Amino acid sequence: MIDMHCHLDLYPNPHHIAEQCHSKGIYVLSVTTTPKAWDGTTALAEGYTKIRTALGLHPQLAHERHHELDLFDVLLPNAKYVGEIGLDGGDNYRKHYEKQRLVFRHILKSVSNAGGRVMTIHSRNAASDVLNELVQYPNAGTAILHWFTGTKTELKRAVDLGCWFSVNPTMLATKRGADLVKEIPKERLLPETDGPFAKLNKRVLMPWDTDLVTKQLSEILSQDVEVVWHQIESNFRNLVTLLQ
Ligand code: MN
Repeated sequence: MIDMHCHLDLYPNPHHIAEQCHSKGIYVLSVTTTPKAWDGTTALAEGYTKIRTALGLHPQLAHERHHELDLFDVLLPNAKYVGEIGLDGGDNYRKHYEKQRLVFRHILKSVSNAGGRVMTIHSRNAASDVLNELVQYPNAGTAILHWFTGTKTELKRAVDLGCWFSVNPTMLATKRGADLVKEIPKERLLPETDGPFAKLNKRVLMPWDTDLVTKQLSEILSQDVEVVWHQIESNFRNLVTLLQ
């Protein structure tokens, strides 16, 4: 199993969850929402080689945590993955949009200067603006748009720019999400849960719920579960190769 976007540190009992991920053999990209969370979150993965930590500054926290950008830059050399970063144009966050943009630009610039990273990116109500920023920083590495909710036109542009996509059970349970995923090139698809933020049928998703994505994709794309899983595994291997 693979969960490319999960907030392990935000579960009520993160050490226990990390241990369970380890015993189930799940590859987890454990994303942080602030640079200050880096130390505690990397500690969760200690001794567990399949759990990797991403250094982030969530756009919904940009207005409160922008002063942690210095810390972001200090920690970046230790981080192979970056995220959660991006922009959020939702009603509650649009008022901080300019601050979000400054933070996102700072991060993309730092990441470019550091030689690029695999980045997991939030783009809720902001897909076009996220893409506009990514275009400005072609050396920032590989962008994975997580829980993409933009339009088909925006999706097409993201594909043309080389973006990858991580999709979760909550997204795929909606008609819109299912319609969008059909437009994503199969070799750029990865599963995620976005737990504990994402819920399905009022239940908080756990990293092992990433298995649901394979089943949903199998139904949506009319392909055998084994074929879908083989594709996902091969995608994951290709992505990891980009880190070498
Ligand atoms: Mn998230």
